[in-house]
Amino acid sequence: MALQVHADIRSLSPYVPGKPIDELQRELGLTRVIKLASNENPLGPSPKALAALSGAQAMLHRYPDGGAYQLRQALADRWKVTSEQIILGNGSDELLGLLARTFLTPGDEAIMADHTFVIYKMEVTAVHGKPVVVPLVNWTHDLESMARAITPRTRLLFLCNPNNPTGTIVSAEAVNRLMANVPEDVLVVFDEAYFEYVRHPQFPDAMAYVMQGRNAIVLRTFSKIYGLAGLRIGYGVSTPEIIDFLNRVRPPFNANSLAQKAALAALGDDAHVAKSRAVNEAGMAQVGEGLRALGITPIPSEANFLYFDAKQDGRRVFDALLREGIIVRHIEGTMIRVTIGQPDENTAFLQAFKNIVNGAR
Ligand SMILES: *Cc1c(COP(=O)(O)O)cnc(C)c1O
Repeated sequence: MALQVHADIRSLSPYVPGKPIDELQRELGLTRVIKLASNENPLGPSPKALAALSGAQAMLHRYPDGGAYQLRQALADRWKVTSEQIILGNGSDELLGLLARTFLTPGDEAIMADHTFVIYKMEVTAVHGKPVVVPLVNWTHDLESMARAITPRTRLLFLCNPNNPTGTIVSAEAVNRLMANVPEDVLVVFDEAYFEYVRHPQFPDAMAYVMQGRNAIVLRTFSKIYGLAGLRIGYGVSTPEIIDFLNRVRPPFNANSLAQKAALAALGDDAHVAKSRAVNEAGMAQVGEGLRALGITPIPSEANFLYFDAKQDGRRVFDALLREGIIVRHIEGTMIRVTIGQPDENTAFLQAFKNIVNGAR
């Protein structure tokens, strides 16, 4: 008998990750590959995290601390909440899945932007929820239209801020107006994976809504500025009630022991975070100027990547850059997303892209 697979699952396609470095090396026989595809920290992990890992290996035969006592306490101290308000995930990706499983029943609606992190749609669809997709305006979340899209079936509203892949933010004022219109039975998910890179003075304080006891959750990750994407660890901050519900669905050992140790050390390494921010800010200026010199204006970004219209087939640009050993992300049509790298990596990207632009003329 044939497998019975629900149409919702059939409608999904597997997530396409940024191309791994060794895959490209194997395929093209390249020695130097520059990966600017997945918004990872080009400086690597915090040295303190690496040191913490080398002490943790001897305990690998034991299960991790399922309650992640130390890391949750450290995060609670950092954000001035209690540890009952913190949940860890196998990356914040896993928390998105837990949110869908905990709060959606088949047919429930989840509001999201049309051009945002693709995992929201995947997780909502996988539990037979209904993604309600609201177009961006000027590459930015249109919170007024998102508020208008709320119906009695709405359970979740995803706000990716800064937004991936555009890099844009919504202001504190816009979020305030949204929160004034969101009913009590809708949970607002603030996905702030790039929070530590933001410099804009009008960036909202999403944590304040949690403090007020609103139905909100703030998701952060150790995969981006903390440089620990390979270990898979992220966290959510919310009300004790919401965290309690999520914990009922959470696999007990979802945050592994090495990740817990490394994240705790990375959280205390302010110097590495400050350096990473500074390198990113300089790189943003470098790549931004380089693109503008080619007549291309990137969308204003508060994250660690730039999104731009390459003005030619993006797939061709992606492939041509690959042949030069540079991995970027082709999102759709003529749009490309490039992660900010170290100065020499940015230079290599700009040079290769310039050759492509000139070759196409
Ligand atoms: C990278 C990213 C995440 C987090 O990824 P994890 O590695 O699973 O923590 C979450 N949301 C957005 C928008 C991202 O870009």
